[in-house]
Amino acid sequence: MPILWLTNTKIEVDSLDENFYNSIPEIEKGYINMYPNFSFAKDVVVAKKLIKHSYKPIKEINLFSGGVDAFNTLINVYNPKLTPFCVLGADIPLSDKFGLHNFANHIKESCKIFNLSPCFCKTNFKSFLNYNNLNTLIHNIDHYWHGFQHGLGLISLTAPIAFKSKVGTVYIASSFSTNEEKFRVKGVASHPTIDNKIRFLNSRVSHNGIEYDRLDKVKNISTWIKQHNQPLNVHVCWKTTSGKNCCKCEKCTRTIYSIFALNIVSPEQFGFKIKKNFFEQSKSMLLKYKEFPSYYTFYKPIADTLTPASAYYENLKWLKDSKPADIKS
Ligand SMILES: [Zn+2]
Repeated sequence: MPILWLTNTKIEVDSLDENFYNSIPEIEKGYINMYPNFSFAKDVVVAKKLIKHSYKPIKEINLFSGGVDAFNTLINVYNPKLTPFCVLGADIPLSDKFGLHNFANHIKESCKIFNLSPCFCKTNFKSFLNYNNLNTLIHNIDHYWHGFQHGLGLISLTAPIAFKSKVGTVYIASSFSTNEEKFRVKGVASHPTIDNKIRFLNSRVSHNGIEYDRLDKVKNISTWIKQHNQPLNVHVCWKTTSGKNCCKCEKCTRTIYSIFALNIVSPEQFGFKIKKNFFEQSKSMLLKYKEFPSYYTFYKPIADTLTPASAYYENLKWLKDSKPADIKS
């Protein structure tokens, strides 16, 4: 849809779900509000026939990728009617068979803990688009995936299963909180102002967790682990596709620091196996990390949470004394 709006291209289809058709202007309004400087064409979809689907909803879907956002939402919305929906071809490319195999196993193991059966969807939605051309179209303000495709693209994939299983609600986990968002100049088009406007069949979409920052999500998951005395393997790593966390990259580090600051569970109970030199290695990595000044937005809540009661406070208190201006790239 965003490609049609941005290029003023019309698409004509023989038939279309009525609820989806009626939601298109509202979805578009969400994009217009997010990108007021772009020109969005109107009435780009022409349907010869609209089909109304009505059924009594009996199931719910949550998009599940096995990371912090996804586990937080799974815990928030958990009920036995839930089907975790896992997309193969989103975070891990289809060409990475090893990574996909590990990812699928991780999802199956995680769902078993919650006594839920996952549904897998394999898609080439990130490989058939020419991102170079699309990024030029959006003046490289962000990557087309983050800026335009993410939420709508993932949510649309659930429609066939929503039809087959009579789904009433599709949950998608927020990637950022309202607090974190205001530090971002660029848009992120998985957002309640867009996602919650998407409707099809007899279902609605619920963008879950925008009120939580990442530390809140780690706290929510840690509390669940403690209450249920059940470790979870939360996969956050940007570097590995082995299904394990590297415990060295920025995202692993940020999550481990959060776990220590909160001091509710250990990193091992969260799916991290840290090495002896973790503190020296992570501090040195962060101080050299060129994005760290902007990423300090994410570290500020961790620094604010650190108290002498936090685990390894002595090793982490440098973060409390740091300010973005002090951190040189
Ligand atoms: Zn990592």
